Amino acid sequence: MPRYIFITGGVVSSLGKGLASAALGALLQARGYKVRLRKLDPYLNFDPGTMSPYQHGECYVTDDGAETDLDLGHYERFTGVSATQRDNITTGRIYNNIITRERRGDYLGATVQVIPHVTDAIKDFVLSDAGDVDFVLCEIGGTIGDIEGLPFFEAIRQLGQELGRDQCIYMHVTLLPYIKVAGEMKTKPTQHSVKEMRSIGIQPDILLCRCEIPIRPDEKRKIALFCNVPEHAVIEGRDADSLYAVPLEYHAQGLDKVVLERFGIHDAPEPDLSRWVDIVERVKNPDGEVTVAVVGKYTSLLDAYKSLIEALNHGGIANGVKVNLRWLDSEQFEKPDGFGPLEDVHAILVPGGFGERGAEGKIAAVRFARERKIPFFGICYGMQMAVIEAARNQAGLTDSGSSEFGQFEHKLVGILTEWVKGNEVERRSAEGDLGGTMRLGSYPAILKEGSKVREIYDDGQIHERHRHRYEVNMAYRDQLEAQGLRFSGVSPDGILPEIVEREDHPWFIGVQFHPELKSRPFQPHPLFASFIGAAVEQSRLV
Ligand code: GLN
Repeated sequence: MPRYIFITGGVVSSLGKGLASAALGALLQARGYKVRLRKLDPYLNFDPGTMSPYQHGECYVTDDGAETDLDLGHYERFTGVSATQRDNITTGRIYNNIITRERRGDYLGATVQVIPHVTDAIKDFVLSDAGDVDFVLCEIGGTIGDIEGLPFFEAIRQLGQELGRDQCIYMHVTLLPYIKVAGEMKTKPTQHSVKEMRSIGIQPDILLCRCEIPIRPDEKRKIALFCNVPEHAVIEGRDADSLYAVPLEYHAQGLDKVVLERFGIHDAPEPDLSRWVDIVERVKNPDGEVTVAVVGKYTSLLDAYKSLIEALNHGGIANGVKVNLRWLDSEQFEKPDGFGPLEDVHAILVPGGFGERGAEGKIAAVRFARERKIPFFGICYGMQMAVIEAARNQAGLTDSGSSEFGQFEHKLVGILTEWVKGNEVERRSAEGDLGGTMRLGSYPAILKEGSKVREIYDDGQIHERHRHRYEVNMAYRDQLEAQGLRFSGVSPDGILPEIVEREDHPWFIGVQFHPELKSRPFQPHPLFASFIGAAVEQSRLV
């Protein structure tokens, strides 16, 4: 039977609960334990698939095609454990299941209520499918006090009661604001937050206090006294210089030790943190730097590109360089004189995206990269724009585009109404719902002999994660290949183009999938490692 660690948040959102959970998972793993991380999101959406990245950040896609919260990306990157649909649930999904069952008559005439039906469904989710793991870490989204969070808090309270307090612990992540003018760190919001938790029956075991400056011993004592936790369970969680330093800092503050102690485990092996030490060392001491332009649409909220940013950093780690990102809104390239910010970059990346706005600017940025022979990486929408660019500007198919943003004579990118996944034929229609109707999750691709991608992956078949509604139209393959744009990765049945690359360019690759989702600090994704390698080469030329 696994032990459960429930992670909740107090005072304000954006305290880095996800990262804290991932870091704790990594620390337990470094001590030889098997961990699994889960996220319980109280919002009403069925999943984050239809939520704007502006509001909610990136939608993280798992191998099994679940559209999940971006925190699952942290979990995967920190622990290397691939997440699944079973690791993220929302209020919307729970109600959807309950109402479907109610309509079927499963409740045999009972009144269906938040307690017990919703709370039972949450508990079932938490307890289900845990396999042989030692620790399940469950993070509750939102902040204590949110109305929609109540059933979740009630469910985890009940679990503490039912499983026993030696089987469940509660870690509360809170904020100690520093009031500059008074020169003081304030503990009151934390006291109130814990009081709020206690009013619903949960006494936190551990407080992870996010702060900008060290917590003085007297302040720790005060927090411990008022919040009813031992002093050594008040953990200082200061902002770290690097994401990957977080596990080391929390370990230095005794987080994993106090967690084990709360479970009555006193003989755990010391953690082997050498790989974390090594990676922090490498991040802190780069041997040079490169600048990559990211030409996108959601450039004002960088959480929208969380995995992408990390994957680029991993590429930097692989090459021993620091990667500076220059975020550029693609609309500026819709004016002929807007290309200045691209002149001195060492590589250009057009990431995934949706909708019409900014498409023309992305196509213009692709052209710039192609003509100037600047390393270019197009991801998903970025690949689609690269194909349209070649069609319009090289193959003479001037009226070509994607059905996502208009009607064109040449439908270079459009909806495929069916394709094969495993043995099942999946069907899509242009009029279908927006939620859950994309090509999602892991699909194989066969890499062409002699291609650049085959060399980069050092493999003939790959599996990568997808999240898109439109596909590049194979009917134009010959015309585009004649212009040097090779279709170097295709689905095993030959129907779907997965990768394009240019023969006449130092590094020009477009992929229909999202390689950033599978990149990890200890295993940088080969495409990102190679792309940053090409940027390093380019930096020697300019
Ligand atoms: N909007 C494009 C599509 O749905 C690309 C999606 C993406 O970049 N993730 O096909």
